[in-house]
Amino acid sequence: MDFVIFDLEWNGCFSKKINSYINEIIEFGAVKLNESLEITGKFNCLVRPVISTRLSSSVKTLTSLTYEELQRGVPFDYGFNKFKKFAAGCVLMTWSKTDIDSLLSNLRFHRRLNIIPFMKQYVDLQRYCHDMLGLSGKNALGLQTAADLLGIDTEDIPHHRALGDSMITALCLRRLYHKAALESYIENCEKPFYDELTFRAFSVESLDSEYSDLSSVFFNCPECGARCRRKNKWKEKFKGFGAPFVCPVCDFSFTGRVTIKRKYNNTLLSKKVIRYSFHQNESSAVPSDAADTQHH
Ligand SMILES: [Zn+2]
Repeated sequence: MDFVIFDLEWNGCFSKKINSYINEIIEFGAVKLNESLEITGKFNCLVRPVISTRLSSSVKTLTSLTYEELQRGVPFDYGFNKFKKFAAGCVLMTWSKTDIDSLLSNLRFHRRLNIIPFMKQYVDLQRYCHDMLGLSGKNALGLQTAADLLGIDTEDIPHHRALGDSMITALCLRRLYHKAALESYIENCEKPFYDELTFRAFSVESLDSEYSDLSSVFFNCPECGARCRRKNKWKEKFKGFGAPFVCPVCDFSFTGRVTIKRKYNNTLLSKKVIRYSFHQNESSAVPSDAADTQHH
């Protein structure tokens, strides 16, 4: 089993053709590794942009690429075909799925494809390294942070360039390689893979939604801690839901606010107490710090 770790550089821009923003790919970079994780091949290719003729300042700063340099790049189709030849038959890997997402949107734009045709198996190395490092936080692990944690010297490798970042990713994998563990992170690139990849989280705003079951939502009194009673029905309010609550012990009244975010395989519900102030000079509602979340 061979692996191909790849990385893309792209320029975020607006396309009139699809009336939407797109990350236009401007560089492919990849390294091929054998089962002992020895580098057996390298791939690098600049792509001439056609959607936007202007590079965003962040791209210029990060990559130090210029528009003139990119004019010497190849058309996307040509670069993609060469990359395909390089990577076909291997397990593909990237640092987070953002690169897969961008590649897919470029394939959709240029070739009306909804899949990456030669990619059969895939590993998200950001997730793998995060877990293998024993990190518990939910924050995305930056590639340079991982390299630093692993004591990898990256000084001589060009950062934020496709081939350089692929190399750094390969060095991280080498430090954390465990054959059986890695195999358990291999995803088969079939329909569920693309369903999850293309799913966009959204906030649930309608009481009729299948995700807006508020029957088990409760609030404890922010003053005395007692379980509060809902005085009226839930209403749709400011991209979420609100209902009046009163404490049976101390009579404290407040609005319970709930927002719901639907993600691919879970629903995230956040609660907040909105306190009312009846003093003359204060405005209507002051949100309290008492926010918490519960998973469904
Ligand atoms: Zn109370």
